[in-house]
Amino acid sequence: MRDMIGFSNIVRRSRRVALAALLAMGVSACATHPPRQLEVAAPGTESLFPAGYEASRARFRRDCAVAAVKAGDVCGQWATPSATDPDLTVEYGIFSRGGDRLLVIQSGIHGTEAPAGAAVQARVMRDYLPKLLVSGIDVVFVHALNPWGFKYGRRNDEFNVNLNRNFSADGKTYEFPNPDYARLRGLFEPPGPVGSRFWGGAAVSAGFVGAFAANGFSDKALSNGLDNGQYQFPAGINYGGRGPQPQTAFLKQIVGPVLARPYRKTLYLDFHTGLGDSGVLAVILGKSPAPEPLRDLQAMLGSYRPRGIEITTPNDPGFFPTEGDVIDFLPSLSARPAAFLAVTMEYGTLGRGTKAQLESASRMILENQKYNHGCRRADTCETIERETREMFNPSDPVWRRAVIGEADLVFKTLLEKF
Ligand SMILES: [Zn+2]
Repeated sequence: MRDMIGFSNIVRRSRRVALAALLAMGVSACATHPPRQLEVAAPGTESLFPAGYEASRARFRRDCAVAAVKAGDVCGQWATPSATDPDLTVEYGIFSRGGDRLLVIQSGIHGTEAPAGAAVQARVMRDYLPKLLVSGIDVVFVHALNPWGFKYGRRNDEFNVNLNRNFSADGKTYEFPNPDYARLRGLFEPPGPVGSRFWGGAAVSAGFVGAFAANGFSDKALSNGLDNGQYQFPAGINYGGRGPQPQTAFLKQIVGPVLARPYRKTLYLDFHTGLGDSGVLAVILGKSPAPEPLRDLQAMLGSYRPRGIEITTPNDPGFFPTEGDVIDFLPSLSARPAAFLAVTMEYGTLGRGTKAQLESASRMILENQKYNHGCRRADTCETIERETREMFNPSDPVWRRAVIGEADLVFKTLLEKF
């Protein structure tokens, strides 16, 4: 493309503008937020975080078998088609005891983000499920919607599809043009193996500083290009596919019949990690949430901002709208879309300032480059893998206890008010 910004150009140009860009970043980093006291669960609860896919799946199967005490309770597995691994399953538990409301709890649509969601699912299945069922709330669990990504440490599936850019009720998603991605592709997909982590990261960050300048210090084009999803470049970042991945069929065939029942109201929680302030749980709304359940959600969780839970829209700073998001697809499976709300439950790790965005973009670019082209040295690849893990599943026990503490607050509230 004629006006594509060349990578080396960006790096050169960045020297001239670095100071101004850093000043702009400084302003953003200094933006103040009201003080928060995160809900943190008791020491020891961090052990709910699984060591990996197989351990998490085995625990889900055990917990589900223990919880399934009534006829009609279902613990099932759905084998994910794979060219390389015959032992990948999405686990599910369906507990419908004639309640008039439905809660669905889903983890791991992004593989590397699965541990937090799986930890929350274990907490709920063990400590809240019997009480929810008694109070007339049916519950469905979907464990590791992207088992390959969970097992092998990628957000995407085996075919480099970001599943949370792949859901489309009418198929139009796959035609979504992303001109910002196409224009900045040289920046997002550096050719060849990754050099050293330090220099790779520095070059990518410098490129971003340059692209900031080229866009009049607006991060919009960068964020739109990188994050919204793109449907043109199969080896690229946040590739959404050319048609539905098998997970669409799974949701339609297994979860769909439950969503098609005429519940008085349904809340679908899709757990993620990454975006937002560290340890804060952002409840992110879809493109057009139904007004009545949205009011309901605000009445239940809207006052918890000082305790680390905030309801946010994709257009708030630090977040972004996406194409093909599962939460925008799910209402199409509901019997009563006006009484149905699906939200992203995003535990922050990165921070919301420009600096954090640059760092996370740089890590995402290096991870994709490593996946496609490898690294010149093995230890560079190991560093990138470790940093990717740490970005989406921080090892900090206090962060992990905040995940559980905030989940406790959500599910206690749902028990009383949903
Ligand atoms: Zn995610």
